[in-house]
Amino acid sequence: SRIPMVAGNWKMNFDHLEATAFVQRFARDLRARRFDFAKCEVALFPSFTSLRSMQVLVESDNLKIRYGAQTVSVTSQGAFTGDVSADMIARLGCSYVIVGHSERRKYHPEDDANIVDQVRAVLAAGMQPILCVGESLEERRKGIELDFAVGQVHDVTRDLSDAEATRLIIAYEPVWAIGTGLVATPQSAQDAARAFREDLRATFDGQVAGTVRVLYGGSVTSRNAIELIEEPDVDGFLIGGAALHVDELTKICMET
Ligand code: 13P
Repeated sequence: SRIPMVAGNWKMNFDHLEATAFVQRFARDLRARRFDFAKCEVALFPSFTSLRSMQVLVESDNLKIRYGAQTVSVTSQGAFTGDVSADMIARLGCSYVIVGHSERRKYHPEDDANIVDQVRAVLAAGMQPILCVGESLEERRKGIELDFAVGQVHDVTRDLSDAEATRLIIAYEPVWAIGTGLVATPQSAQDAARAFREDLRATFDGQVAGTVRVLYGGSVTSRNAIELIEEPDVDGFLIGGAALHVDELTKICMET
C-alpha cells in the first residue's frame, strides 16, 4: 500500500541550466517508456539555485516529477546569513526536504536537536522531510549498526505527534556505502527498514509504522536496485551518483 519512491539527491552538482536540461531529457525518457507515476513517485533534489527553474519547468510542462531541497534552516526568518527558510522552499513548489544527510552532519553543525527542528520546520510548511540516518564503518565493525541507526531515528521522532510522524520518510544510508560502490546487502537494508518500523510501532499509533516509507541509499545503481526493492520493508531509493545520469536514473525508475 506504500507507493515506492525514487529520489535523486544531486548534492552540489548541476547549475540551473544543467538541471533543467536534465529534467527535460529525463521526463522525455520516462514518457517514452510509459513510466507510471501512479505506481512510483519520482523526486529530484537540486541545489537551491535550481529550484525556481525546476518550478517553472515542472509547472509549464505539467510534469509529474517532484522535487525538493537538500537542507533547510530551522528558523523562519531573520538575521541568518546564507540560510533558506522552509516557507521559501515551499513557495517554490517543493514537496520534500532532505534532512540530516550524513554530509550535512559531517560538514555543518547539524546535530539531533537541529535535525528535529528541521523536521518540524518542513512539516509546518506543508512538505515532507526525508530523514537520513545510517551507521559508519565504526558502528558496523562493532556490530551495533541497527541500534545506532534506530537510535538516530528515535532521537528525532520521539517528540513528534502521530500526525507529524505519519508524514515522515526515512532514508537508511549507511555512511560506508555512500559514494563507495559498496552497496548494503538486500538483507541488511531490509533489517534496518524493519527495525525502524518496529520502533515506530512502539512509539506511535498503529497506522504510522505502516505508512512511513523507508528508502535505501548508498551506491544504488540499476544493477542492484531490483534485488533491494524486492525486500518488503524497502520502499525505494535515495540516489546520489547514479542520479547524475539520465539513462541510469530512468532505468532505476523502471525497475522500482
Ligand atoms: P551514492 O548513491 O552516490 O552512494 O550517494 C548516496 C547518497 O548519499 C544519497 O543521498
